[in-house]
Amino acid sequence: MNIHEFQAKQLFAQFGVPVPKGKEIKSARAAEKWAAALDTPVYVVKAQIHAGGRGKAGGVKITKNRDEVPGLAQELMGKTLVTHQTGPKGRKVRRLLIEEGAGIDKELYLSLLVDRDTGRPVFIASTEGGMEIEEVAEKTPEKVIRETIDPAVGFQAYNGRNLAFALGLPAIEKAVVNPFIQMLGNLYRLFMEKNASMVEINPLVITTEKTLIALDGKVSFDDCALFKHTDIQALRDLHEEEPMEIEAGKHNLNYVKLDGDIGCMVNGAGLAMATMDVIKLAGAEPANFLDVGGGATKETVAAGFRILLKDKKVKGIFINIFGGIVRCERIANGVIEASKEVGIKLPVVVRLQGTNAEEGRKLLLESGLKVDVATDLWEAAQKIVAMKGKKKKG
Ligand code: GDP
Ligand code: MN
Repeated sequence: MNIHEFQAKQLFAQFGVPVPKGKEIKSARAAEKWAAALDTPVYVVKAQIHAGGRGKAGGVKITKNRDEVPGLAQELMGKTLVTHQTGPKGRKVRRLLIEEGAGIDKELYLSLLVDRDTGRPVFIASTEGGMEIEEVAEKTPEKVIRETIDPAVGFQAYNGRNLAFALGLPAIEKAVVNPFIQMLGNLYRLFMEKNASMVEINPLVITTEKTLIALDGKVSFDDCALFKHTDIQALRDLHEEEPMEIEAGKHNLNYVKLDGDIGCMVNGAGLAMATMDVIKLAGAEPANFLDVGGGATKETVAAGFRILLKDKKVKGIFINIFGGIVRCERIANGVIEASKEVGIKLPVVVRLQGTNAEEGRKLLLESGLKVDVATDLWEAAQKIVAMKGKKKKG
């Protein structure tokens, strides 16, 4: 789960990581009041969406004139921001952060995440802050500094010194070395206590007053640990999530929306991946990844079906089930029931294999539904690709 910048900053403050004074607003009208409350030489108005790259996309406005704040807020609120992370559709701005501006002397990059190679938390830092770290890593990999933490021992001051010295921080600004090391310890505590999967500060700023401050903040959490943190659950913003993914979550379905037009319903993640591959091989693109799980029931199949049909881009549905734990006749019943309930006007190909596949196919064929039944994966994929977009007869 991801959270907004203003929420990340509230969490930072809670853990002793310095952030600018600021206030989140949901309506542009509130901007004037909060600008007056801040009373600072520089004001920053920032669009709050779950995507980076806002600066370049015009989502961060800076002014020295307090009277300009309401106008800037008005300009940003409700706007659809397209950044390199939002995709072409962009994200609608529903919340703003009004903040006191910082005088920037130097922008650094700092993050903490789980390194899958070592299975340990790792700090990543760079003197090249404010830029995309992927770009830094590609062009000047020597400027990306890593420090792995042994989770059994936890963060130690020497980890902090390693990072500070590797960054050349004492030469850049000696006064921030100790605050930097302290900040790393605080971030590590946040990361572990809240079961975060990533914390990123870009830029981490050395101000003209020689202090250290987190000017941006991004925190992602491990979904599997969310049940332990009601405070974090409360930060969820459903506007920032794909509506169909939210719906799928309610039924314990693993659904990821994609850009193609063949809706897929598959049991088992491996088979779902293979299914997407064969759809591509047959010349089309999958509209989604949908794993109804090894123990799919009639109800989960029906729920999956409804979700697929809600996607207006879907022009054909491919159901690919291997009956291992699940029995194929149950899936067939689920398909029949859901079809009756929602009324399918799209071509559907159902491929059943495994336990009771014969029985399942028979049920489908006798149901009177206009679904195509298949046994072979490659044939089924070719069939649905050839049929897509064609209106069903009857
Ligand atoms: P992102 O583009 O979505 O990552 O948004 P950021 O919060 O990182 O802001 C983008 C850029 O705006 C930063 O890299 C800074 O250069 C600039 N910026 C943000 N806040 C301030 C501020 O308080 N003072 C100044 N001078 N620049 C700021
Ligand atoms: Mn940033």
